[in-house]
Parts: sequence; C-alpha cells; structure tokens
Amino acid sequence: MLYQSTRSEKYTATACQAILQGIGPDGGLYMLPDPGARKFPMEKLAQMSAREISAEVLALLLPDFSRREVSEIVEASYKNKFETEDLVPLVKVGDRFILELFRGPTSAFKDVALSVLPHLITASKNKLGVTEDILILTATSGDTGKAALEGFHDVPGTRIIVFYPHGGVSQIQQAQMATQAGSNVRVCAIRGNFDDAQSGVKAIFTSPRAAAALQGKAILSSANSINIGRLAPQVMYYFKAYGDLLRTGEIFPGELVDFVVPTGNFGNILAGYLAKRMGLPAGQFLCASNANNVLTDFLGTGVYDRNRPFHLTISPSMDILISSNLERLLFLASGGNCQEVSSYMDSLKTSGKYRLEPATWAAIQADFLAGYADDAQTKAAIWRVYERYGYLMDTHTAVAWDVADRVPLKNKTVVVSTASPYKFCPAVLSALGEAELGDPFAQLDRLQALTGIPIPANLAGLKELPILHRDIIHKEEMEDYVLA
Ligand SMILES: *Cc1c(COP(=O)(O)O)cnc(C)c1O
Repeated sequence: MLYQSTRSEKYTATACQAILQGIGPDGGLYMLPDPGARKFPMEKLAQMSAREISAEVLALLLPDFSRREVSEIVEASYKNKFETEDLVPLVKVGDRFILELFRGPTSAFKDVALSVLPHLITASKNKLGVTEDILILTATSGDTGKAALEGFHDVPGTRIIVFYPHGGVSQIQQAQMATQAGSNVRVCAIRGNFDDAQSGVKAIFTSPRAAAALQGKAILSSANSINIGRLAPQVMYYFKAYGDLLRTGEIFPGELVDFVVPTGNFGNILAGYLAKRMGLPAGQFLCASNANNVLTDFLGTGVYDRNRPFHLTISPSMDILISSNLERLLFLASGGNCQEVSSYMDSLKTSGKYRLEPATWAAIQADFLAGYADDAQTKAAIWRVYERYGYLMDTHTAVAWDVADRVPLKNKTVVVSTASPYKFCPAVLSALGEAELGDPFAQLDRLQALTGIPIPANLAGLKELPILHRDIIHKEEMEDYVLA
C-alpha cells in the first residue's frame, strides 16, 4: 500500500518517505487511495488500552512499520508524558460526552500526535538510511508550535523552526514558545496571520532555491497536519472514545456516535473521518468553526470561498481561512480523482475559491454537518456549561459545544475538547464574569482560585522560565530566515 499525492498519481511514496517529506513534490498531500482497505478490529476495541489502540491504528495506516515497531514507538512516545494513563479521558457532561485531548505535556490536543511524530521521523530515517538532519518547519496558530517544540527539542538528527503570527496567539501560548529550551530549536514571529505563516512554509517546501541550498545538509519536513505522520496518530482518539462508551455501557456494539469537532486546518476532524472509513461506527461529524466560518459555508453550499474578512477571535487556533487538510477530504470524497483535486487547488490559488462537483459534494454531505459560533456565543456557552454542570471548557471546545446546541444530531454525541481552559484565560475569565487582569500569570491564579480546577503543571511553571526567543520578521523573509 503506497501513499500518493492528492494532486497526481505519479507521486507515490511509502509511509516512511511520506513522513520524511511532509508534502508531495507537487504541493499535494500524501494520502492512501483507500484508507478503509484495512479495518480496525472493532470486536477487540472495548478490551484495548489507549496505547494498544494507538499502535493498532498506526500499524494499519503506516504499513511499512511492523506491529512490534509501532508498539515500541507508542510506548516511547507516551511514557510518563500524559496526566492520565488513558491519554485522552472521556467525561460525561449533561447528556453529552467530552473527549479531553489536552492532558499532554503542553495542554494541547496536538500533544497526542506530536509526541509520536519525532519517533516516526527517527524510525523512518533509519529505515531509509537517511543521514542528513531533518529540518522541521512549522507554522502555528498557537498550539502546534509548542507541542512540536516539546516533541522535537534535543531529538538527535532533527532541527525545528516554528513560525507564528505576531500578536495572533495567546499570551500564554507565546510564553510557552518563547521560553522553549533546546539546542536544535528556533521560534520566530511573522508580521502576518496564520495563513501567511502556513503559505510561507508551504512555499519553502517547493522552492528550488531552498532545495539547492539545503542539498546534502538537511531534508525539510513538516510537523503540521499536512504530514501524514502527524495525522495518523490522531485517528486513535475516535476509537478510544467509542471504546470507553462501549465499556461503560453507554452504547451497544455498532451503535452510531456523532462527533462535534472544533476545526481549523481540518486535521482533527479528518482523523475522525479516517476512523470511520476504517470501520468506526460514526454517524455525523459536525464541523464547528468560529467567526472565520469558511468551512461552515463550504459544507453548506459546496463552494469554498476564502475571499472574506479575517477575524481574530478568542479561539485563535481556528482563525484560519485556508484549511489544508480539506484537500485530503476532497481527494477521498472524489474517489481519488487527482485532476479534480488539482483543479480545485489551482482555482483556490488564483481566485481564492472553487465549487465542488455535485458528486463530490454529495459524498461529503453524507458524513459532515457544519455550524459556527461567534465570540459572544462562545463565551455564553462557557458560562452556561460551567454554571449548569461545573465543567469548564476552553474557548475552542465551547465553540463546538455551542454549535452542537444549534445543529440537531441524532446519536449519542462526543464533543472533542482541544485545549485546557488555562491556555485562554482572558476569554474564559471574562465568560465567567470576571474583570480583565493584565498579567497572564495573575490570570492563571485567578482562574484557579475561582474554579478550584488545578493549573496544569506545565503552565504553572512558565513564569519562572527565561525568554529565549525574540525574533520577528516579515512574511517575505521566511525563506531567508530558514536558509540562514
Ligand atoms: C489546532 C487546534 C484546533 C484545530 O485543529 P485542526 O486539526 O487544525 O482542525 C482546535 N482547537 C485547538 C485548541 C487547537 O490547538
């Protein structure tokens, strides 16, 4: 089973090659033509631990690795790194379930995958006999950056550069990145938004000048969910949630479960869709956006149109107008039609929009619903759920919860929670009716005093750490920065 570029059949790659390259030579994303060809053993799910589920998923999606190799990778990745043994706890809140993906070392859902990716990269290097360093380039809207730095710092044979939009991430997120230690890490702010940072990184990947300069010295790769090595480890948590529901008798085997996913780059929700193709009895995936509701419109009309104002919201990890992983959905929903995907992507590049073929749109509508919540609705949801159930959501999770309140679903519902509320203190405090406090660390303390929910250890320790990274550049300077 080979991966191929979403834009051309002629660019194929083994899983190892796809992981090291990050993105296809034509700018397409690597994908299996039929990710459902190998099914997850659903009959065993209820007895499996989170790590066993993770290993099973990786063995199915990354066929170059043996079962033993993936088990070793999973053990090494998660050992003593997460707050709970089951990695991603499922909590009942009212008549819904919240899947907490933020119990990892940086309190972001990205930890689930970014704990694994460095191990996959090292293993892929060894398998392919690659001796050059792997240079990881990452654009972040806040959470990927820190989680990637945490995963890659001081990993031999790798270097990592993280770009984030200047002023576009929360103060806590910025503090997390700016204090990152490690001999192989660089962190740099871009004067621009996340889409600028992401486009800049993608352009470096396909730049002949960069390729020539790095020849023989380093191989570029990505820690963003355009890398299949980042996407594949995310598929486990949909199975994990289903296994928990089975074990606790909340559902019977085969019962459909709906998932509500706060979405930006479409990586997380696409992982759910892959799980469904691999045999998970998932009903609908409800794609939840903030005021940057390009995906809501897209799923409702079949027209993707990024020509709209860009909003800075209180859920900054979803402040995105070009949703990268959607390309993989287009590829799968069109039955692997690379010409069709290429024409959408060309049109997106030249006019900022494209219209789906009717068959592709119908295929997508069978699995996806969409809705969005603005900042006021998001804060109202945080308050409502806290007041009613004593459960404190972060702003991204609250977007999902609020959308689920307005879009009717038929099945038991899992709301996917992507961050700790402590990462977005100003908005969460304001939702609880508290006045603004300037200092981000005073805000952490205030939220803890108010709710009694402990500050995650990694955030509590931040204020003691020295600032190590202060670079700010223009978006046009990204390539020079990398080559320097
Ligand atoms: C990255 C992120 C998202 C969006 O995830 P995608 O996989 O890019 O759709 C949502 N919430 C938080 C807190 C995030 O960090």
